Amino acid sequence: MKMDIKVTLTEQPKARPTDESKLGFGKTFSDHMFAIDYSAAEGWHNARIQPYQPYVIDPASPVLHYGQEIFEGLKAYRTADDHIQLFRPIENARRMNRSAERLCMPDLDPEFQVEAMKCLVEVEKDWVPRSAGTSLYLRPTMFGDGAVLGVHPAPVYHYFIITAPSGAYYARGLAPVRIHIEDNYVRAVRGGVGFAKTGGNYAASLKAAAEASAKGFDQVLWLDGRENKYIEEVGAMNMMFVLGDTLVTPMLEGSILPGITRDSVLTLAKDRGMKVEERRISVEEILEAYEAGVLKEAFGTGTAAVISPVGELEYKGRQLIINNNEIGPVAQDLYQTLTSIQNGSAADPHDWIVKVC
Ligand SMILES: *Cc1c(COP(=O)(O)O)cnc(C)c1O
Repeated sequence: MKMDIKVTLTEQPKARPTDESKLGFGKTFSDHMFAIDYSAAEGWHNARIQPYQPYVIDPASPVLHYGQEIFEGLKAYRTADDHIQLFRPIENARRMNRSAERLCMPDLDPEFQVEAMKCLVEVEKDWVPRSAGTSLYLRPTMFGDGAVLGVHPAPVYHYFIITAPSGAYYARGLAPVRIHIEDNYVRAVRGGVGFAKTGGNYAASLKAAAEASAKGFDQVLWLDGRENKYIEEVGAMNMMFVLGDTLVTPMLEGSILPGITRDSVLTLAKDRGMKVEERRISVEEILEAYEAGVLKEAFGTGTAAVISPVGELEYKGRQLIINNNEIGPVAQDLYQTLTSIQNGSAADPHDWIVKVC
């Protein structure tokens, strides 16, 4: 798809955050956004970079009633020699289209999505922070619009990308998190929309997260929606375990998000000659591995946190303290290797990096 992106710059640039240690996640947004619109008659049209601004939508808009919304998340990194680069953006674009397909939304050429990301990041290059561990977070999003209350796919869609300078995702950095294994609520079922990055999955997760948070946990670990038995994933992270000398992670069966960090970590682990297994993992197996001293490490993987070590798992009142509540060698090593590729301080053997400017 060849389409020009019209650039209109803001006349009122915002003050950029000066203290990069206080960036947090998704609290400040840059000056501009990418936007493009879709209708059946016109297809995708009006591709533009414009000042960051609200959408005006009809109260009958389908996204407000039936939740036709999908999104992505990826980061732009500043390298030591002051270039800016993206990590595997084409994978985000492809996953956006897989989510779109599941929710009956139109797809948008992946190459063009990456063009739009690059164009926007170049306009916002001064918003990419410089300190170690920081990045410019990109949030591509699409929603269904129009003024029709019938339960049908929306007549109109808006795709946009906003960006937010971001610090470390977890306030406590790489410090291990406490996770509650959820045995009451479920997030997704096979055949549902668990593999799609859609807002509804998150809306459905808020109550369990709030209850776990009230009990002092950082995150909820979901079990499968049919048998309440197999490990699925955590909030916005895929889950990995080191059992003996093997890296084990739940297989993709349609109910969990196929994380790009997950895929990257599995690839890097194989590169280092580690044994890797993608399969079903029951909570029972984890409890037994813990008792037998075989559960060496547990960690989550996702763009926002990259790797988040798990120090404690709680299941039905039982407490599992993992690796003495410290980050383990496998998580540490994979974190170091992956972030070094992302920030340009190490070679990129798998062609994952896309230079912006
Ligand atoms: C985005 C997301 C992940 C992580 O995916 P990455 O591509 O690694 O960022 C994992 N689980 C859920 C539910 C997500 O929404």
